[in-house]
Amino acid sequence: MKWPLSKKMEISLLTCVIHKSEQITKYCEDHSQLCCSKCVELNHRLCLQVTPLPHAARRKSTDFKNLSVSTENILSQMKQCQTYQEDRMMSLKVSYKEHERLIVDGLRVNIVSYLRECETSTVNTTHEHMQYTVIDMREKIKYLLAAFEKGTIKEKKEELNLKQAPLKVVKNSCIRLHYELFHLHVAIPKVLGKPELSFIASKKCLENIQQSDIFIKENFSNHVFTVNGKSVHNVKMPSDSDTCIIEAVCALPNGQVLVFDSNNINVKLLNQQYRVVSHLDVSDGLIWDMCVWDMCVCDMCLITPTEVAVAMHDKVQFITVSQSQLTKGRKLKLQPYCTAIAHNQGDLYICSRTALYKFTLSGELVCRLYKDSSADFTVYKCAVSPTGDRLYIITSWDQNKLLTLARDGTLLATYSDPALGYPWSLHVTPAGQVLVCGCRPHTVLQVGWEGKSKLATLATREGGVRSPWSVCYSSTTSSIIVGQKWDDTILVYRVE
Ligand SMILES: [Zn+2]
Ligand SMILES: [Zn+2]
Repeated sequence: MKWPLSKKMEISLLTCVIHKSEQITKYCEDHSQLCCSKCVELNHRLCLQVTPLPHAARRKSTDFKNLSVSTENILSQMKQCQTYQEDRMMSLKVSYKEHERLIVDGLRVNIVSYLRECETSTVNTTHEHMQYTVIDMREKIKYLLAAFEKGTIKEKKEELNLKQAPLKVVKNSCIRLHYELFHLHVAIPKVLGKPELSFIASKKCLENIQQSDIFIKENFSNHVFTVNGKSVHNVKMPSDSDTCIIEAVCALPNGQVLVFDSNNINVKLLNQQYRVVSHLDVSDGLIWDMCVWDMCVCDMCLITPTEVAVAMHDKVQFITVSQSQLTKGRKLKLQPYCTAIAHNQGDLYICSRTALYKFTLSGELVCRLYKDSSADFTVYKCAVSPTGDRLYIITSWDQNKLLTLARDGTLLATYSDPALGYPWSLHVTPAGQVLVCGCRPHTVLQVGWEGKSKLATLATREGGVRSPWSVCYSSTTSSIIVGQKWDDTILVYRVE
């Protein structure tokens, strides 16, 4: 990072992205695009504001700090996307190997039984006859092996290659986009004193970010989960006085899970086998009756890999996990009535019945992002995309709606579906996949990142889910964890 800008990097910065033999000389304000003379001639002849580069560089200032944050964000998403493709390729290969082992075993059984058959039928034959039989046997076994190799193995290997090919394409694009953006990211601090170069670098960087963002959304955020199995785990403790209501679930990167039980008003820590290993009372003098009532909505979200925040009524309680022990940390007193909490890179998002607010981690109100006073509970629960560019809200239970907002609170999309009946919880995975629970029809859905359509129904009443009250994805264990209302068990769906 401390090395000065190399000549090679400087040349690459100055080169037009489309016309590799040309240098960038102009900037088109109409298109917000860097242009070489060919670009101008071909695409910007009618544009009104094509200015020479030095002029444009002097006029525009860039927020490099912000740019660097967004770049790091996209770079880490890109890495995750790459790892994800690699993992999927690996898991295909493992299942192929397993399958191969099974067919080899089958073949072995066939050969052994054939030999046995020969043995019994040749016990009483003479020596001359025996020779013919050996030739016969050799032919038969050869035939078995050839058929095996030609048919089964080849076919399966081709199938594996076919399935892996699209993953490989995405993986390679990840590597390429990451490489390009990373170079710009490294170059920017080195060109800060040079207005034209830093102008070009920042514009190219922004363009790469946009490109990469679209790529991630298309290939990563809309990857549809398929469920591969389910397990049920009891999380009630002997000291719990009542049936559990699992209001929120957080998966820690180490594979442990935290569940917030709003009926017994405690947070339970589950180990990798989903057994309760520790718990913490968070009632804090709260009148218990308030929480049995449906109107009490509370929530919990992950702040760091070892810290969560529980939002209840007018306060947010931070809790730290260390060596399988839970400890209370600081507490924020917030004016609005908290019904939900979400966190993304130092920003806290709090829902309070009819509005969505943004706070800093230290509890200062930044702004109100959204408000809808048309009913009592219009802003219920919220979740935020990994890059923070999208916010998702579920509305009150009689409206069955999922709203998608931009970073600044602008409403981008409304999705309404009977399958979302009585929506209570939602979650966005590190890849940007959106999961929503519909409590009345007892479903867990995956919705597209644009918040406009359903991609899959992951869990249904028939499949054993009852009043899904909270949902969370763990990338560590590749599973979706669902907490339920009036039920002591959580459901863990293994997904691909
Ligand atoms: Zn050009
Ligand atoms: Zn133009």
